[in-house]
Amino acid sequence: MQELRLKVRANFVNKYKSGFPLILSDAVVNVKELKEEGTIVRLVDEKNTFIAKGYFGKQNKGYGWVLSKNEQENFDKRFFKNKIIAAINRREQFYADDSTTAFRIFNGEGDGIGGLTIDFFADFYLINWYSKGIYRFRNEILEALQESVDYKGIYQKKRFDAKGQYVEDDDFVTGERGEFPLIVKENGVQFAVYLNEGAMVGVFLDQREVRKTIRDKYAKDTNMLNTFSYTGAFSVFAALGGATKTTSVDLANRSKPKTIEQFSLNAIDYEAQDIIVEDVFQYFKYAGRKGLKFDLVVLDPPSFARSKKVVFSAEKDYKKLLIETVAITEDNGVIVASTNSSAFGMKKFKSFIQQAFAETGYKYQLLEEFSLPEDYRTIREYPEGNYLKVVFIRKVNGK
Ligand code: SAH
Repeated sequence: MQELRLKVRANFVNKYKSGFPLILSDAVVNVKELKEEGTIVRLVDEKNTFIAKGYFGKQNKGYGWVLSKNEQENFDKRFFKNKIIAAINRREQFYADDSTTAFRIFNGEGDGIGGLTIDFFADFYLINWYSKGIYRFRNEILEALQESVDYKGIYQKKRFDAKGQYVEDDDFVTGERGEFPLIVKENGVQFAVYLNEGAMVGVFLDQREVRKTIRDKYAKDTNMLNTFSYTGAFSVFAALGGATKTTSVDLANRSKPKTIEQFSLNAIDYEAQDIIVEDVFQYFKYAGRKGLKFDLVVLDPPSFARSKKVVFSAEKDYKKLLIETVAITEDNGVIVASTNSSAFGMKKFKSFIQQAFAETGYKYQLLEEFSLPEDYRTIREYPEGNYLKVVFIRKVNGK
């Protein structure tokens, strides 16, 4: 593999010395010299003193990741195996818990290798490669994983382009080809998962705690609305928690059969639920006209989405989304506001909530909040890695 010395700009040197893992193009003087992804890079200061070592790989976030502060480190199988074993050891309680068979075993820079995640789905493993750069270490990483775990089969997703877009491919890597759907469990609830059907597998594991909280503490006797519902995971948990009815709304045609599948798997009569394929913003208008109101509303939009009529950006439009939600929420109802946008943090997210309620004239109470669960390990040196923000809000009629 090629190697290159990267000169860190003076105002960034301390950042890297104190463990910041992401290689930012702005931080490097000779960034133009980076040509081939997978190149090993040594970060040095203005006096050419070694700071850290990593690899070049283009992601939306940056130009690669620091992997070690040891100048002699080789990024070989042994190196990756040590990281993987350490990550697995941190997740012993997940492996031991039979009621949950889907979780993340390796979370990028949180476990020491930015650009790589590995998820466990009932004895299958799914590797996500976030750049061509990290994919250059494929053989070493794959062998390290194979030597570290018992598995039925291994699948992968290549999310190479600068936006993290999935590259269409046969995602099977090695072992058995599973039979899909693969049925996994999460806190006793079943999910149908497809490891070989494009970018998304059917469930976002980072919302595990939120789903459980909805089921165990908020769903009972509610009329629940799940917006941007995808395969309806939040609706399934609400129904199992005793919601009188759930309504799932998503723009994608596939969301309807997928949601029916998840309900059926858990013995919920899907015909007693509403599953609507529509733009959420159109649905809000419809609900407003019909005077529909909900006791529990889940809001989990993508960070960025373009539909025929609307372009939605969480950073610009979340406030507006909340204002429309407040209008169709019952007094004393609960709104679960979620975002995975890394463009802003919890503080700003709460300011959107505060502004939205101020504009509607309603008061609110913050009930609880969530960020990434334990298996999505993050590190102090890179808090931006903790992108998930979920806030449970009670609408209070103080008008
Ligand atoms: N809340 C889901 C995940 C949402 S993923 C879960 O927990 O599983 C984002 C979803 O938003 C996708 O399924 C996408 O089809 C949908 N989507 C994007 N823009 C939309 C819009 N304007 N109206 C409705 N759904 C939309």
